[in-house]
Amino acid sequence: MARKIGSWPALLLAALILTAGTFCGKAQPGFDLIIKGGTVIDGSGTAGFVGDIGITGDRIVKIGRINGSPAPTVIDAKGLVVTPGFIDVHTHCDRAIAEVPTVDNYILQGVTTIIGGNCGGHPYPVSELFSKIEETGTAPNFGTLIGHNTIRREVMGMAMEPPTAEQMEHMKALLRQEMQAGGLGLSTGLAYLPGTYSDTAELVELGSVVALFGGLYATHLRDQAEGITESIEEALLVGEKNGIPVQISHIKLADDKVWGELERITHPVEQARARGIEVYLDQYPYTATSSGFTSSFPSWAFEGGRERFRERLNDREQFIRFKDHIIRKRLTSSRGIDRLETIYIASYRHEPGYQGKNLKEILLEQDREPSVDNAARLIIEIQENGGAQGVFFQMDESDVEALMKLDYTMHASDGGIQVPGQGVPHPRNYGTFPRIISLYVKDRGVLKLDEAVSKMTSLPAAAFRIEKRGRLEEGCFADITIFDFQRFSDTATFSAPHQYSRGLEYVIVNGEIVVEHEQLTGRLPGRVIYGPGKHTQEDSK
Ligand SMILES: [Zn+2]
Repeated sequence: MARKIGSWPALLLAALILTAGTFCGKAQPGFDLIIKGGTVIDGSGTAGFVGDIGITGDRIVKIGRINGSPAPTVIDAKGLVVTPGFIDVHTHCDRAIAEVPTVDNYILQGVTTIIGGNCGGHPYPVSELFSKIEETGTAPNFGTLIGHNTIRREVMGMAMEPPTAEQMEHMKALLRQEMQAGGLGLSTGLAYLPGTYSDTAELVELGSVVALFGGLYATHLRDQAEGITESIEEALLVGEKNGIPVQISHIKLADDKVWGELERITHPVEQARARGIEVYLDQYPYTATSSGFTSSFPSWAFEGGRERFRERLNDREQFIRFKDHIIRKRLTSSRGIDRLETIYIASYRHEPGYQGKNLKEILLEQDREPSVDNAARLIIEIQENGGAQGVFFQMDESDVEALMKLDYTMHASDGGIQVPGQGVPHPRNYGTFPRIISLYVKDRGVLKLDEAVSKMTSLPAAAFRIEKRGRLEEGCFADITIFDFQRFSDTATFSAPHQYSRGLEYVIVNGEIVVEHEQLTGRLPGRVIYGPGKHTQEDSK
C-alpha cells in the first residue's frame, strides 16, 4: 500500500512533465520558416482567413496565430494571398525535366507539382528518369503517367491491327513494370500514333493492370468534336470495367460544328458520376489548342512508319485522299471562319522562319494563293519535312468558361518545359495558372478565388491520389504559393509567349523557397511523386 501511494506522485510528476513538454512544443516548436499575416486560402474551397503558417523541415506544423516564436526566415505576407502550391496534372514536362530541372516556366506560375506522361507518351523505362531526378533534384515535385503509345510502340511498332494475345501480354507486362516503378496510371493519346490504332477492348484490358496498383486512366480522347460523346463513353468504359478513376484530358468542344453543345460532355460524364464512377476533367484556359500536325491526317497515313508515309505521298491517289481529309477535318468551317488564319506554326525545325505565322501568311509569303487546297498541300509538305508543332484556334470562349465552372474540372496547362527564345509555343506553357486568377477570377468573375484555388490544388491531389499535398493543413508538405491578388497575372501572349507571370511573391516547395519576388532562387527541393505501385512493391519486399 505504501508503495502504491508512493508511486502516485511520481506518476503525476511524469504526467506533468509530459504535458508541459507538449505545451512547450506548441509554444516554441522552433519553426524554420514562418509566413505571417497572409490571407490563407487552404485549398478546401472554403473562404480565406488571415493567419500565420509555421513550417518545420518540409512540413506545415502550425496554421493560425503564431506569436513570439523566432524563426530564421519570416515572410511578411500581409496583403498577400497564401495558397497551396498549384498542382498541374496535365503536362509533358517528362520530356525535358532531366535537362531543365529548375522547370522555370512552371515554378514561375506558382506550380509546385507537375504530372507528366500525358496523351499517351512517357520516357521509357520510367525508372531511368526517376533515378536521374533523384540524383540531380528538381524545383517542383514530379510524377508521371505511363503512356499507352509508348508501350504499344515498344511491343508492336506502328502496326495498325489489334494486338495478338502474346502482344497483349507483353504490353501488360511492360505496363506492370512501369507501374511498379512508380507510374501514377495509364494515359492514352487516341488521336495520335499508334494509339489511334487501338480499340476499346485493348484499353479496357490495359486498364486492368492499372487497377492492380491503384492508378487512374487519363485520356486524350479519340475525338474532341462531333464524336466527343462516343469518345467519352469509351473512356468511361475503361474506368467502369476496372473500377479506376477517369481523367479526361484538356476538355474542349474542338470544332465550330459543336460549339455551345456542352451536354455532349456533361451528359455522359454526369451520368457516370451518378453511377459512382470517379470522373474528372482538366482544362487549359485558352481558345487555341497546340499539337503536331499528324492528327490532321487520316490515321492510316502513318501505318508502318515514316518511310511508308513518304511512299504514300508519292502515290497520286493517296496524296489526294490525304489532301481531302485535311481540308475536311482541319480547314473547313461551318461558320464561315477562315481556318487558314487560325492555324499557326509554333515550332518547325525545317524552316524556323515560319514560326509565329499562320498558314495564310506563309502562303502569301510564298506567292501562293491562300486557298484551302494550297493550305492542305502546305501541311503535307510540313509533315514530309519532319513535322511541326502548331497552334490551332478552334474553341469558343463561352464553352471554355462553361467547362471551367463544372465542379469536377481542374485547371491544367497541357504544356511542357520551355526555354526562352525557342519557337513560338502556346502561351499556356507560361500563363495558365496566373491567367485563371487574373482573367477568370479577378476580371470576369467566372470563378471565386477559393473555388479556382481548389481546382488547382485539392481537386487534382484527390484525383491523382497525391498524399499530403494540395491543401494547407498541419501535417501536409509545405508546398505553398504566395501572390499579390491585384497584380498576379499572365503576360505570355500568342505572339510573345516567352514571358513569365507578374505578382508572384513566393513559391515554397517542401519547405524551401524556390521563388522570391518573381525570381527563381535556383533551389531544387522537389521530390518524385511515386504511384502506389512502387510502395506496394517495397512493402512486399
Ligand atoms: Zn493531349
